[in-house]
Amino acid sequence: MSSSVVDKNKPHVIVIGAGIGGLTAAALLAHRGYSVLVLDQAIVPGGCASTFKRQGFTFDVGATQVAGLEPGGIHHRIFSELEIDLPAATPCDPACAVYLPGESTPINVWRDCEKWREERQRQFPGSEPFWQLMATLFDASWEFQGRDPVLPPRNLWDLWQLIQAVRPSTFITAPFTLLTVGDALRLCGLGNDQRLRTFLDLQLKLYSQVSADETALLYAATALSVSQLPQGLYHLQGSMQVLSDRLVQALERDGGRLLMRHTVESIKIENGKATAVVIRNQKTGEIWTESADHVVANVTVQNLVQLLGNQAPSGYQQRVEKLPPASGAFVVYLGVDASAIPLNCPPHLQFMYDANGIIGENNSLFVSVSHPGDGRAPEGKATIIASSFVDYEQWWQTPDYPSLKQKYTEEAIAHLNKYFYLKPETIIYQEAATPRTFAHYTARDRGIVGGIGQRIPTFGPFGFANRTPINSLWLVGDSTHPGEGTAGVSYSALTVVRQIQAEFKHR
Ligand SMILES: Cc1cc2nc3c(=O)[nH]c(=O)nc-3n(C[C@H](O)[C@H](O)[C@H](O)COP(=O)(O)OP(=O)(O)OC[C@H]3O[C@@H](n4cnc5c(N)ncnc54)[C@H](O)[C@@H]3O)c2cc1C
Repeated sequence: MSSSVVDKNKPHVIVIGAGIGGLTAAALLAHRGYSVLVLDQAIVPGGCASTFKRQGFTFDVGATQVAGLEPGGIHHRIFSELEIDLPAATPCDPACAVYLPGESTPINVWRDCEKWREERQRQFPGSEPFWQLMATLFDASWEFQGRDPVLPPRNLWDLWQLIQAVRPSTFITAPFTLLTVGDALRLCGLGNDQRLRTFLDLQLKLYSQVSADETALLYAATALSVSQLPQGLYHLQGSMQVLSDRLVQALERDGGRLLMRHTVESIKIENGKATAVVIRNQKTGEIWTESADHVVANVTVQNLVQLLGNQAPSGYQQRVEKLPPASGAFVVYLGVDASAIPLNCPPHLQFMYDANGIIGENNSLFVSVSHPGDGRAPEGKATIIASSFVDYEQWWQTPDYPSLKQKYTEEAIAHLNKYFYLKPETIIYQEAATPRTFAHYTARDRGIVGGIGQRIPTFGPFGFANRTPINSLWLVGDSTHPGEGTAGVSYSALTVVRQIQAEFKHR
């Protein structure tokens, strides 16, 4: 690998990881005039938002729904700046159909605000004060986030960006900063409404990794409101891969380079500044060191500490070690005959199987179903992707991994069979992913997914900053504000791009 391809007249940035966070940062930097090299250890870009193909079916690896495609939404803003077309997409309506334990009628999270209001008033009588509080906090938080605050601030420039994003309306949120959703339910006199709590636990866990009792209220206000107009969730035409493919297209058009199957083994630090990375070409085994003015790490914060090795600042390392355990995921991918899908099946469903209504290990499923013509299955067939939250540790400790995987797969299919018609004659293809699979394909530490959990001590103002304690080393992705999801990691990428640009301006 020759460094002669680096344009010496432009600042050189190395991006570790071609997930949506890394690709977004890379494409924006290339468009704004930087020399950019992206390295990814996988075969295809996209990380948790990539896809794989089997027997004519296309499966989304992790992410299946996209927020931020509406005008003003983060993907829309970034694609407009890059002058590339947004992927074609259909709105998810309902965003999700949620089946609580023992219930056969779902709670439909409608896209239309009025329809959703009627639904929740019918489903959860007396809960409107809670939803009104959520709406008020969402309006203020959404406008604030739209003004691109830097959270948490780590220097004067960051602080100034934060201050500039604040308006009088933002102060409405201040008294709620240290409250959880559980606190808000109690304040609204709904602390004992177990059905509402179960619904919130299920929905929040998808975004925050934790239950209502632990989720930061300000984070939840966004997570619970983003499914309705004028925002909304979308199902991409073709597959999730189209999002990464378009970003790669923009990156390469603007002179940036992407090398797949290239692993970054360590980050070099000199005098408190990131100066280079050590790269291994997986095909040839060649190892070399590439210098950079800036290094952007699109990895989990746990992986970042590993890449730094004994150069990791001790306070930072300790903070990472003390984080509560992250989530793992177990995912079943099914290619089925269309006859396995009930009529009018919504694109996304959530099922819970524990009669006590308490979310635990592997007792709920989030399901994404393809629809005819969406590019995921041949005519007359469909894909079903079902994921559940699992404790990642047991997948590394088990003495019999194949049997554990088999047991989880059978249980998931048995649960799904209560809604779908899954028989040997309707299941054409099946495969499962465990934390070990995610570790292998995305290189995420122990296969953890979804970020660090939006508890009070780790959300927004108290989370991990994009600006690391090491100069010229930046963290993007779902370990940072505003959290998991393709939209969340795109915000983090935009922040890092602005921070890098500000550094050059102030030299
Ligand atoms: C089962 C599941 C369902 C989900 N559903 C949704 C959903 O519906 N909607 C939504 O918006 N989000 C969803 N998410 C979350 C979303 O997929 C992620 O938050 C987001 O895609 C993470 O993007 P990222 O850029 O932070 O990191 P990643 O996607 O993890 O990308 C990191 C990249 O870095 C590469 N890499 C790592 N280490 C190295 C190294 N040392 N050298 C070279 N390359 C390296 C990896 O190969 C990977 O490509 C889901 C996630 C899962 C697991």
